[in-house]
Amino acid sequence: MTRQTPPLLDDFTAMNPSIRAEGNTDTTMKTHIYADHAATTPLDVCASEAMLPWLLDGYGNPSQPYSFARGPKSALSRARETVAACIGADPEEVFFTSGGTESDNWVIKGSAFADSAKRETVASAFEHHAVLRSCEAIRRMGYPVTYVSPSRDGYVTPANLSGAVTGRTRLVCVMYANNELGTVQPVRKLCEIAHENGALFFTDAVQAVGHIPLNVHDLGVDFLSASAHKFNGPGGTGFLYIRKGSSLPPLIDGGGQENGYRAGTENVAGAVGLATALKNNCDAFEQNQRHLRLLEERLISGLKDNGVRFVRNGGRETLPGFLSLSLTGAEGETVLHRLDLMGISIATGAACDSQNTRISHVLRAIGLDETAAVATVRISFGKENTESDADEIARAISRVVGSRNLL
Ligand code: PLP
Repeated sequence: MTRQTPPLLDDFTAMNPSIRAEGNTDTTMKTHIYADHAATTPLDVCASEAMLPWLLDGYGNPSQPYSFARGPKSALSRARETVAACIGADPEEVFFTSGGTESDNWVIKGSAFADSAKRETVASAFEHHAVLRSCEAIRRMGYPVTYVSPSRDGYVTPANLSGAVTGRTRLVCVMYANNELGTVQPVRKLCEIAHENGALFFTDAVQAVGHIPLNVHDLGVDFLSASAHKFNGPGGTGFLYIRKGSSLPPLIDGGGQENGYRAGTENVAGAVGLATALKNNCDAFEQNQRHLRLLEERLISGLKDNGVRFVRNGGRETLPGFLSLSLTGAEGETVLHRLDLMGISIATGAACDSQNTRISHVLRAIGLDETAAVATVRISFGKENTESDADEIARAISRVVGSRNLL
């Protein structure tokens, strides 16, 4: 069989002219600055190398009894052990899934469907749509859902949560770190409140796992979701942590994979890539965090030096390298597209069409006014970004926002 050579980055660049910097004729220069790691991250090279043998040669189905299946089966269990060690869980508490969305759906729908008394779910109002739309789905089926507003600076406070949780609450969902603001929630305290009221606690930790140290046993959470493509693992893979003793019926029915809890032939290469990328990130937490904080500071001082006026959203506890900025007098969407033309990828918090401005539910939930929301951009650095990337982004923003914003 002839294998096709994967397209090289050069071909990709040729297909995407916008990633070539405006006016840059020096082909040896870096032409694309990627600063949207909250959306997705580049695949760790070690992870890709670790995956290849299971895609090319060790492709046996781990559920089969013959010896050819033994390799993939043990690779899967080693991957599970690695993940468990990274989050302080036992291997039997880790279930591989297709990503954050599936894991989130599983917890919310699975736990609701198992509850004939239809007790309430409490969720924060700025959860990812994978959580919010799952909550809407169960609400339409008659399961009550209550939403808790975060504070203006982007945190679910213990006082706000206490006011919403009652003896009839079955499940409390508060994300570990918000995907637009980067704010890290006081999960341990919030989990205690849920448990004091006899409810289970679920945290969508998609933005946090592999970026900041966390330990499920110290936190006390019952369920925790994660997604590999957010921590330099392969897309379409993730996992759900289910605390021993917190029963959650399967969402996907079929074969007996994942100990009978998640049907479907396992993605062995995906699980191996996920585990490799996660371990590499966890082994380098300190070094990565230091580097990312430096890039944050560099960007902030670059903007100030260039006279750009902005308000940083998110307050005190944020993910390293993560900035939500409202650029005074600017339109985030215009900034995004102009930076794109300069070969820089960032994100925004609002999208405008000819008639409407769609402000993200996150910025609405924290009560940002429309002008500030429209002016908001999200810059999320990754470990491969450099100080000169931060400087370049600051210069590019100052060129784009121009005289409407500058001091
Ligand atoms: N939860 C959060 C907080 C996210 O940021 C995302 C992705 O952006 C998801 C869930 C969905 O994860 P996935 O892309 O793996 O389905």
